[in-house]
Amino acid sequence: MLELYGRGVSNGIAIGKLSFYSNEKDDIPKYTVKDADAELKLYRQAASQAKQHLQQLYDEACKHVSQNESVIFQTHIMILEDSKFVETVETCIRQMHLNAEFAVRNTAEKIAEIFQALKDDYLRQRASDIMDVANTILEVLMPKKPEKQENDDIPVIIAATELLPSETISFQQKNLIGFVTNKGSKNSHTAILARTMGLPSVIQVKESLLSFDGLDAIIDGQNGRVIISPDHNTLAQYRIRQERYLQRQQKLKNQIGLASVTRNGQKIVLSANIDSLEGIGSAKNNDAEGVGLFRADYIFGKRKTPPPENEQTEVYKTILRAFPDSEVAICLADLSSEKNVPYLDIPKENNPAMGYRGIRVLLNNKEFFMTQLRALLRASVCGNLSIVMPMINNIEEIEYVRRTIEDAKLELRAKGQEYRRNVKLGAMISTPAAALISDEICRVSDFVTIGTNALTQFTLAIDRENQKLEYYYEPYHKAVFRLIELVCRNAHERGKKVTVCGELACDPYITPMFLALGVDRLAVVPSKLLDVKAVVRETDTTDRKTLLKRIQ
Ligand code: PEP
Ligand code: MG
Repeated sequence: MLELYGRGVSNGIAIGKLSFYSNEKDDIPKYTVKDADAELKLYRQAASQAKQHLQQLYDEACKHVSQNESVIFQTHIMILEDSKFVETVETCIRQMHLNAEFAVRNTAEKIAEIFQALKDDYLRQRASDIMDVANTILEVLMPKKPEKQENDDIPVIIAATELLPSETISFQQKNLIGFVTNKGSKNSHTAILARTMGLPSVIQVKESLLSFDGLDAIIDGQNGRVIISPDHNTLAQYRIRQERYLQRQQKLKNQIGLASVTRNGQKIVLSANIDSLEGIGSAKNNDAEGVGLFRADYIFGKRKTPPPENEQTEVYKTILRAFPDSEVAICLADLSSEKNVPYLDIPKENNPAMGYRGIRVLLNNKEFFMTQLRALLRASVCGNLSIVMPMINNIEEIEYVRRTIEDAKLELRAKGQEYRRNVKLGAMISTPAAALISDEICRVSDFVTIGTNALTQFTLAIDRENQKLEYYYEPYHKAVFRLIELVCRNAHERGKKVTVCGELACDPYITPMFLALGVDRLAVVPSKLLDVKAVVRETDTTDRKTLLKRIQ
């Protein structure tokens, strides 16, 4: 028995046989061709067949995973047709008389190298998408030898150095139960697809996997463990754990489509808390009722100039269109010195969490702020938008935001651009100060949303990024609960709705307390939505006193 460690990127336990998948393309030959025009024709035919193949993969993916995950294959078609990519390949062939296979592989490698050098993990991963597209074209230009035949009845765990999205989705055989790879990252499309397909997966294993081909193995996706040739005891233990996991998953799956209502009929909206468009798919797969918090900060970071209004508008429209029937709350830019926004003058600080950030930055950068507001308002015609203000501490800040929204509307009207008139404006309650004056905040704000992570940090004076203080970071602290209770009371007395976002909203152990407090909506990370729903449906809130014991 041998244990390997990596990074678990998709939960669950798989027990089966490892099958090593080699995706190394045979060496690509390099030679010059006499008839460049004929070679060009060959390339164009191959690209057109590759496009058809990608379209088929897209249709296939739509049957197995949600449309949002399947979109990767449309992105691949866009890369395939990208003018820079096509021009570079064609120049290689036309001017240098190089063979099509080499031109494709060489061009893809050069573009991939540029992406690989980027700091952003997400963009770095796009390098593998480019190589994947090149492989799809090469597949046509130089078809592969037939795959080894697998026995269809034995559960198979695919092991590979790296898996590309098209490969991941093409392993749709019914006996596929998991993945283990040497490379990849949590944000790679392969990891995302694995999660959506519900296949336990471990990546970043250091040991070469080829020598384990054909051996029995266990994948523990939760703990990032891979056990090769498990002994009898380990196997027995894992079978029990797998059984428990599957029972729990089944119970959670049964929640899909059911209302998030307690035994005694109290409704709570279970919405998603996501911070990129990538989260839409899993939010929908887990039955999210709209989005309780969408943080769009990724649009602003790691770039030299602020994102243009149209680009922002498209992002907001996409998320609103994804949830046409329910509310989508988008948070205003919550930027600070650690967010890498050189176009805003935010000096390096020792303590950015308590520094120049959130609304404080927006107040000082009116044009930047106006751009986001115009983008949000323009997108508002696509759905039911509400806007969340981060790091609010007093009424004047909210009044300033309201005035700026009116300025933005004036500008849109002058240009004849449409927006919805009834966009709600809510304050994020993330400081004890905001919680303590939540009665006043609720007078000027349409709703409140309690950011329990920041509220815990500021109430207990514990920097949540400080590893030494992890032990003291205690979201279950009575002081935090009492502030939450106060906010709920103040809001409800004024007829305003309360959302809870942050980790506590995802904690099924605390769900009954939120129900007893009459919280209207929880903004939960998609993977926890069904866990929370199961608790909601099991809870009876008639005896509020018992449920609120922790607060007294
Ligand atoms: C919070 O503070 O609870 C919150 C939702 O914000 P963040 O994304 O900073 O955790
Ligand atoms: Mg934050």
